[in-house]
Amino acid sequence: MSRPFQLYHLQQLDSQLDGIHVRIREIESALADDSEINLSREKAAQVNADLQQAHLNLRNAEFETQQQRIKIEQTESTLYGGKVHKPKELKDLENEAAALKRQMSVLEDRQLECMLVEEEAAKCQSNSTIELDKALANHRRRLEILNQDKDKQEKDLNRLEDERRVVAGAIQAEDISVYEQLRLKRRGLAVAKVTDRACAACGSTLNAVLLNAARSPNQLNMCDHCGRILYLG
Ligand SMILES: [Zn+2]
Repeated sequence: MSRPFQLYHLQQLDSQLDGIHVRIREIESALADDSEINLSREKAAQVNADLQQAHLNLRNAEFETQQQRIKIEQTESTLYGGKVHKPKELKDLENEAAALKRQMSVLEDRQLECMLVEEEAAKCQSNSTIELDKALANHRRRLEILNQDKDKQEKDLNRLEDERRVVAGAIQAEDISVYEQLRLKRRGLAVAKVTDRACAACGSTLNAVLLNAARSPNQLNMCDHCGRILYLG
């Protein structure tokens, strides 16, 4: 097996491994990111809080109208009870009853408004529960898909690492060292295929001497331009 081909094979495995590492990092970051579902939860919590507040406002409004009704009843009972005879006192009681009724009208309007707000809040809460359930189901499904993908990537990783150990074990140490240094310097790509007499990595055209040399199975030749090991497929 030619030296350039061995390194080319190693390069193919390493490129695949690099891709898998990137994908696993992406998956892990996506798995850790629960901002979207937290937003749905926060929204639902806010809608629940709004409904609780609307309940409370309505109960308060109901209590106030009830209290006002009692006051009116008490005033009218005194007014028509026959125990008060003085015209001035009767007039005062009449005025008081009228004032209480005017206030009552305001309180009833407020109660009605609170009822409408509560109805609307209850509708929102019902919709929000449905939306949150959907969001949670989607979230669970998304995690499931990501975890399945991660399992697959990890299996591929183990398989390729085993294969790489075998391939690398058959290459001489000196070539591995050249290859590893180039990988570091050339963003992971140490070996370039020659396509149409040019380096496929940088596009530079090879001169006839280099092209001929690159045909040798027993020596490593580098691209004049980018310095990568050339492999003539
Ligand atoms: Zn090149």
